[in-house]
Amino acid sequence: MQYGKTNKQSSNHRSLTSQRPWNLMLRAMKETLMDQLEDLHQGKEWSHLLTKHQLYSNLKRRTNKSMYDVSNVRLESLLKFAQNRYSRLWRTRILRQLCKNTHSQWYLFDRLEPVNIQGNQLFIAPDVVVRIQNKWHLYRFDMQSSEHTVCHEEEANTMVIWAIQHNGFPQKPISFKLHTIAWHQGYWHQKTYQPSEKSVSNCSILLSNDMNAMKSIRTAGNRNPALLPLAQHYRTCQSCAFRTFCPGGKDLPKAKKEQALLELSTKKRLLEA
Ligand code: SF4
Repeated sequence: MQYGKTNKQSSNHRSLTSQRPWNLMLRAMKETLMDQLEDLHQGKEWSHLLTKHQLYSNLKRRTNKSMYDVSNVRLESLLKFAQNRYSRLWRTRILRQLCKNTHSQWYLFDRLEPVNIQGNQLFIAPDVVVRIQNKWHLYRFDMQSSEHTVCHEEEANTMVIWAIQHNGFPQKPISFKLHTIAWHQGYWHQKTYQPSEKSVSNCSILLSNDMNAMKSIRTAGNRNPALLPLAQHYRTCQSCAFRTFCPGGKDLPKAKKEQALLELSTKKRLLEA
């Protein structure tokens, strides 16, 4: 399961300034996709030229705010990667069907609109919802994903939790079908899951446990920020919004050693007390 920061404004500001150019390309693709789908929903189709222009301008706007220096050559190569991925995304079954008006009832939702669950804001909306006969199909697009694991199904189940919180959707998980379309190692991979009462309940428990664990970490961090867990791998730090403030962002192995020493001395002091 992946989690993000809850403050929309500061999150955007920080991520745009510290995200790596590659991640900005992925965000630009997602932004373009949602804009194109919105226009398609209103009956407006995009030409190849307009698509390229939108991808370019979304990418350029984001890289302009990046803390990394993105040369024109780099920008052009990112645009080529994005165009390739993006055009292949529109060959997927559901997007071809939407272009052909196969489905009369379909809706777009904003992932940045949270739902409130147990006092926590969760960003778990699907990107597209399509009604086919009496079934609601919830779609999520992931511009770059890890290898498929059981976690992906759990993440997909969060869409049902979102739907059940919204007026107009049925309350039973059996009324939904979940679809994820994610890029991994050169291909768009499409997965479909049938949620059940059990899978949704397991997902709720997992979310609740994770949120409690995050609160415990925050409490521990308030007591002593130096004891907050550090990343497993330096690559995680490379796109982290806190890398300029966190010792792990400068030198992760050194920060880990210093943290281990600090933990030892804290334990020793507690034993001596
Ligand atoms: S160790 Fe620090 S810089 Fe690295 S991911 Fe964690 S918070 Fe970010």
